[in-house]
Amino acid sequence: MIKILANDGIHPDGKTLLEEANYQVDIEKVPQEKLKEVLPEYDVIIVRSATKVRKDLIDACPNLKVIARGGVGLDNIDVAYAKEKGIEVYNTPAASSQAVAELVFTHMLNMARSVSKANRELVKDGADFKGLKKAYAGGIQLSGKTLGIVGFGRIGQEVARIGLGMGMNVLPTDPAVDEADIALNLYHSDEVNISVKLVTTDFETVLEKSDFITFHVPNIGRSLIGAQEIQKMKDGAFIVNTARGGMADEKAVLDALNSGKLGGAGLDVFENEPTPMKALLQHQNVSVTPHIGAATHEAQANIGLELADKILAFFGDDK
Ligand code: NAD
Repeated sequence: MIKILANDGIHPDGKTLLEEANYQVDIEKVPQEKLKEVLPEYDVIIVRSATKVRKDLIDACPNLKVIARGGVGLDNIDVAYAKEKGIEVYNTPAASSQAVAELVFTHMLNMARSVSKANRELVKDGADFKGLKKAYAGGIQLSGKTLGIVGFGRIGQEVARIGLGMGMNVLPTDPAVDEADIALNLYHSDEVNISVKLVTTDFETVLEKSDFITFHVPNIGRSLIGAQEIQKMKDGAFIVNTARGGMADEKAVLDALNSGKLGGAGLDVFENEPTPMKALLQHQNVSVTPHIGAATHEAQANIGLELADKILAFFGDDK
């Protein structure tokens, strides 16, 4: 029987799929320092970001055949070493794209209509309803606005799909992608399937023309947008960062929010997690979430199912 240790958990749907194939799935967390004792009896370890699978642990587990990571980043796994030892390493890069893309629009719509701010004011005892109605009357619509997408990979293309659906002028940039067919697949129906070809442009054009710019680039070890880039943007434009903290230089963003050059910033990721810069968090023109891009029920179920499928395919009928 194939034995799997899901040390950082697995969605029940994925667990059920594996158990239906008669695999043993243990979900009781083994502390990192005990793994060397426990893991040798397993064929597979499933982790998220908490459990580290380093060289010494791999060496202690000659029976290990698969390391599966629910999510994208593989920083907690010595991938090259595992592969050298003949161990397969899987992750689930596509499972959360829709969840992240929807969060991008959550932030954009929040900023466009000042929803969080209005909400905070309105729930106060004795809120001045009429005064607030006037104060928050200056909303904007996304339809007809230009949406710059920096990084036109999995998430960038999901964002484009929603943007097109909302009537936005979508302007992607990506040095590795010239164009992509964005299938609108309305109502998840095979019968109503429209595809729109989007051609990428250069970063400068995105900076100059966009009303909203959203980032979907992997960690490249530096910020893509600082004071100079912000200067090239339209006055009052908005940025959204759900990629990685530091993708947009936080000091430059704060300065631009203070001067009004930026109309707002939607941020799910921060340079200094879990204690982001207070002045940024508390700025009246930000829309912030605590790194929850992939945290939907559907994305978590997708992650569990995708991992289960990959593990089942790996072992085939050899149980
Ligand atoms: P992906 O690999 O599918 O796409 C990334 C794209 O960025 C690639 O096409 C690449 O060519 C492009 N790129 C690289 N450098 C660039 C540059 N300088 N300018 C423009 N484009 C550039 O990745 P993805 O699945 O779309 O994920 C994008 C980001 O989202 C990653 O950083 C990932 O870590 C992050 N993410 C965040 C959350 C969250 O919880 N907020 C969840 C999942 C993923």
